[in-house]
Amino acid sequence: MMSEDVIEKMDKLKVKWVNLQFTDVVGILRQVTVSRRLLTHEAFENGLGKLDGSSVKGFTGIEESDLNLKPIKETFAVIPWLDGVGRMICAVYRGDARFPKDPRYAAEALDSMLKSNDLKAFVSPELEFFIFDKVTVAIDTWKQIVEISSSEGHWISSAPFNALKEGYYVTYPNDKFEKLKKSIGETLENFFGIAVEVFHHEVAGASQHEINFRGGDVTSTADAVQTVKYVVKAIASKEGYIATFMPKPLYGDNGSGMHVHVSIWRNGENLFYDPSDEYAGLSQYARYFIGGLIEHGRALSAIVSPTVNSYKRLVPGYEAPVYLVWSKANRSAAIRVPAYHKFNNNSKRIEYRPPDPTANPYLALSAIVLAGLDGVKKKIDPGDPVDENVYKMDPRRRKELGIKELPRSLDEALDELETDNEWLKPIYSNELIETYIELKREEVRKLQSYPSPVEIFTYINY
Ligand code: GLN
Ligand code: MG
Ligand code: MG
Ligand code: MG
Repeated sequence: MMSEDVIEKMDKLKVKWVNLQFTDVVGILRQVTVSRRLLTHEAFENGLGKLDGSSVKGFTGIEESDLNLKPIKETFAVIPWLDGVGRMICAVYRGDARFPKDPRYAAEALDSMLKSNDLKAFVSPELEFFIFDKVTVAIDTWKQIVEISSSEGHWISSAPFNALKEGYYVTYPNDKFEKLKKSIGETLENFFGIAVEVFHHEVAGASQHEINFRGGDVTSTADAVQTVKYVVKAIASKEGYIATFMPKPLYGDNGSGMHVHVSIWRNGENLFYDPSDEYAGLSQYARYFIGGLIEHGRALSAIVSPTVNSYKRLVPGYEAPVYLVWSKANRSAAIRVPAYHKFNNNSKRIEYRPPDPTANPYLALSAIVLAGLDGVKKKIDPGDPVDENVYKMDPRRRKELGIKELPRSLDEALDELETDNEWLKPIYSNELIETYIELKREEVRKLQSYPSPVEIFTYINY
């Protein structure tokens, strides 16, 4: 695609303003709106000097704060809910060099490293989210605690606790958001070029939903995650709802994950597939990849489950992983080999289940692939698959089998990342890793020092 093509398109579609979007270190999509007039051929070549990096958490100090945004032409889209406004995702530059803390840069660098080795990663995330009615969840924290004990009723977004874990695949009228989801799907397809594949109500009774779309390489898929979250939240908001991707908004009901499906390809050949493997049609290459994910899984946790709230999801009993084991079909394992079509070259993949949608997708998707590739490089044995329900396993037996657990808190995950990060270094700059850990430690400190409503509820009468 040439810059002339985008310029022509903008004029044809009467675009007058363009939101230049980028993602900060922790994963928040941000934007600066510029006049269409600024988007000249030259701006596409050299970027626009429109970003004060000192005001973006983790980017720069105030003494070296001028950054440039170079629009990625392929991400141009018209924003359907704004008349005459487009958007483009941008690469961040300092002067003429890529800015090392732009998370998108890590994803791009990984894709090109793979390419220079004739490899390609195919990643595909499943995004889960809740749609809430504003009043109940945003304000009435006490009511949440009280209503949790209720076990009957029906599914409406404002009475979320009446049908815990009974929401899987429900239809209208229990799923109140068919129309909203249709509108999200059509917007993503028609305006943002994202091929939506599946929608369904998720397990939580409280209006939890899932969206799947076609995957691809690491960078374009991370772009798509940011776009999907942006569109889901925007369209819900226009209808008076809050869509949230926080991993565990409700005690006692399922949380929201972002399972990531991965396979690695060389010249059209799926390196994860081996028809001679009776267990799962899985190659030795894939087994080593899984070995890397288990080896680095505790450190990786700080990137894929990156918020204080993430660890409230990673507890037994809610189809979220707790133990770093692999298996086919077993949803209590961190790594699953989907068993729908055991002997199919195209669909052979692994599913990494720990991530949640608060993860910065550029970092999460690239880190998952890097952990796996480190396993391939070092030929790390993943151990035997565990096909029993690990939640229910006797702790002694878990110990005997040497089963590792995911960290129990963000703080613990950050301790791991601090000591185990060499595997990121082929792609991540030290600056990026250090800043990431620093920002996340700050987040932990802040959230830990707030007394929460449930603490008050528990301790007030001691
Ligand atoms: N919501 C679950 C999680 O937190 C997954 C449930 C599912 O996809 N069946 O990972
Ligand atoms: Mg799914
Ligand atoms: Mg799901
Ligand atoms: Mg899944």
